[in-house]
Parts: sequence; structure tokens; C-alpha cells
Amino acid sequence: MDEERKLLENLVLYHKRKYYDGEPEISDAEYDSLEDRLREIDPENPVLFIVGAPSGGNVTHNPPMLSCQKAKTVDKIISWAENRPLMMGYKVDGISLKILFENTRLIQAATRGSGTQGDDVTLNIMKIESIPKTIPFENRIEIRGELYMRISEFNRINSSLPDDEQYSNPRNLAAGTTKQKDSRMMENRELNFMAFELLGWKDDSTIEEKAKTLKSWGFEISDYLRIDTPTFDTVDTHFREVEAERNDLDYEIDGVVFKYNLAADREAVGATDHHPRWQIALKFESKGKSTKLNEITWQVGRTSVLTPVAELEPVEVSGAVISRATLHNADFLINLDAKPGDFVFVERSGEVIPKIISVTAKNTTGKVNLPDKCPSCDSNTIKSGVNLLCTGDICRGRSIQQIGAWIRKTGIDGIGGKSLEKLFDSGLVKHYSDI
Ligand SMILES: [Zn+2]
Repeated sequence: MDEERKLLENLVLYHKRKYYDGEPEISDAEYDSLEDRLREIDPENPVLFIVGAPSGGNVTHNPPMLSCQKAKTVDKIISWAENRPLMMGYKVDGISLKILFENTRLIQAATRGSGTQGDDVTLNIMKIESIPKTIPFENRIEIRGELYMRISEFNRINSSLPDDEQYSNPRNLAAGTTKQKDSRMMENRELNFMAFELLGWKDDSTIEEKAKTLKSWGFEISDYLRIDTPTFDTVDTHFREVEAERNDLDYEIDGVVFKYNLAADREAVGATDHHPRWQIALKFESKGKSTKLNEITWQVGRTSVLTPVAELEPVEVSGAVISRATLHNADFLINLDAKPGDFVFVERSGEVIPKIISVTAKNTTGKVNLPDKCPSCDSNTIKSGVNLLCTGDICRGRSIQQIGAWIRKTGIDGIGGKSLEKLFDSGLVKHYSDI
């Protein structure tokens, strides 16, 4: 029964999308019979209550989804607060999302996009288990928040992807997953949502009351600490506390957000075209250090893409020694304009792959050289788009990646990276059909 329900859910979502994309694969009658059967075995299934074009369409935000003004110092927070009572919460590094509810049911979800218009992602959001699909409230309301992926989940998914398909951080992977055309993908990738705004529910209520209500409806919330009299010491202490717990969190935050707790205070200051005046973010200082770039190596991926990797003079950044960092692609390296001998600023957030942010001291002259031969098979390379590609038919790196990807797909155990390299070099395995 449960299996049939899942299958029907997927079929309904799939064919709904096909229909709205103008590429229906089944007749209306066939589609109706799928919905009827789902209604029969699970009359309350949220998939049955989606309205309008459920995907690919644009959604207008009213009111617009404004951005958050930023401060760099606690002093700035104090002068902005002017003694008003505040709520403080995490600034989660995710994707801004709004979710509409009507007659107690989730009916639409959309990304922030330009702020006035975003993408409809209802079908995929329906698949996120941690987001409530019904709430005990009849009127139309809008809940806004941040969609994010846990660091542990990011690492789990990324390590199962081939090198050249890996994501550089949880936010990119969350965004890539949310935009997937196939909702079934969502079943194997866990996303979370942290709510921070409730529109259309008792507009005269405090931020604290809204947060409590969201929590009672089953949402994870970001606003959690009340500061009634914001002095330098209280704000600074709480900010340092969050900065200290940051490394223990299983998701990325890049600062904290302060809001006027009282509705009257919020109304009194209003908003500019860009941001509400009643909230402000205080961001953490970036966790990075400058170090010497010793060498640039190139890794061949499964699709012949050569990815530059920075080999660094080992440096300790927030408790971990970093000696390598990704340079993403050939164009990133050209724009960064870094050569062995230069000093670069390397940054680390959470448990995620370190990034090179900028060149801090230039010790070399001339342009960045891209290798004209593939380091793995010595074939010529060509530039294509942002990438450098190997043109070789037989490329050791690429072949090993391809066989590795096939092994992961089939779920064969016991053939890891090193043993696969040995098998390949021995000549026993040159193609996945050899396994
Ligand atoms: Zn090659």
C-alpha cells in the first residue's frame, strides 16, 4: 500500500509537470485515473491539493522578497537598535523560499529569484519531509525562510558523485537539487527549511510570537533569542556565543540576524526599496588565511574536463590543516590570475571543501598558463567554455573515473579508488565491461 502510494505520488507529479510543460505523455483520462486511485488510498495526500501550474512557471512576490541590510560591527547594531527590544536568530546560508498555505494546505512554493519574481518549485518542495504540508490555520498565509542542506548530507551526496559533478558547497547542491525537473531525485536528497517570516497571521504580533507559532506548526525556526535591552555587552556576548557554536552546527550560517521584536517598531521604520529597516545582519569575519601557492595540478574528470587544484603551503584554518583547494575550472584560475609562487587567501566554512578567494601577494609576472597536454594521457587539450578539456580517446584519469562511476551506480562493493587504479594499470580492467 505504502509502495503504491509513493509510486502514484511520483506518477501524478511527473505527469502534472509534463502537462504544464506542454509535453503530455498520457491522456487526460489516464491522468485522472491516477489521481482517482491516489485519492482512493490516501484522500489527504498533499500532492492532490497543488493548484495552478505546479512547475517551471514564474511566481510574483507580493510583497517583494527584500534582502537584508548588513552590518560589520556590534556598534552599528547598537546604533541601529536605538534601545528597541530585539529578536536574534541564525543567518543560514541557503536559498530563500516562500511557501503559501490556503485552507490549511500547502498550495505553492517559490524561490526568491529577483525578489519580485521567482521560480515555482512546488512539486519538489512537496517532497521535503521536514516541511509541514498542512497547518491548523484556515486563511491564506505565506511563510518565508531558508532552504538548506545539512553538511553531513552534503558530504554523503557529494562523495557519491563523480569528481567533475561534485558541488563546492551545500548551498549549490541544495539549489541544484531544488531545480531538478524530476521530483523523484528529492527522495534521495534530504533538504531542510528554516522559517523566519509569517505573513498574513496576526500582523500586530511580535517576532517571538510568530516564531513560536511557526514552531508549533512543525517548522524549524531561525529566530530564537530575545534581547529586551540591547547593550554592547549583551549583543556582543550573544554574537560571540553563536560564532563559537558555529563549528558544531550541521549546517552553514554566515552570521546572525537581528529584528525589531515589536510590530509597532517595525511599522514605524518600514522599508526601503531594497530591504526592511527593521532587520539587520551581523556577519562573521571570514575564516581564512593567506598562504603560498606551491603548484597547480590538473585532475581529469569522467567527461574529459580538467579541473585545476591548488597545492598549498599547509596552513591551519579554524582547526584544520589545509594543503589543497579547488580552483573550480580553467576560467576561474585565469580570472584569479594566480601562479605558483603567489600568495592566496584560502577560506573554509563548516566541513566543506576549502576555497581560494583571492590573490593576497603577487610574486610572479605574466599570464596564467594552461597545460597544452593532458597530465594523464599526454593528448592535446582544448579550451571549451569555462573548461579545459582532454581530447585523448584513451585517457587513464577519465577511464578510471568512468569505471568508478559505473561501479557506484551498480553498487558493487570493495573496489575503491586505489584498487581500481591498480587494476587499470595492470591492464586487467580497461573498460567497465571488463568487470
Ligand atoms: Zn587525457
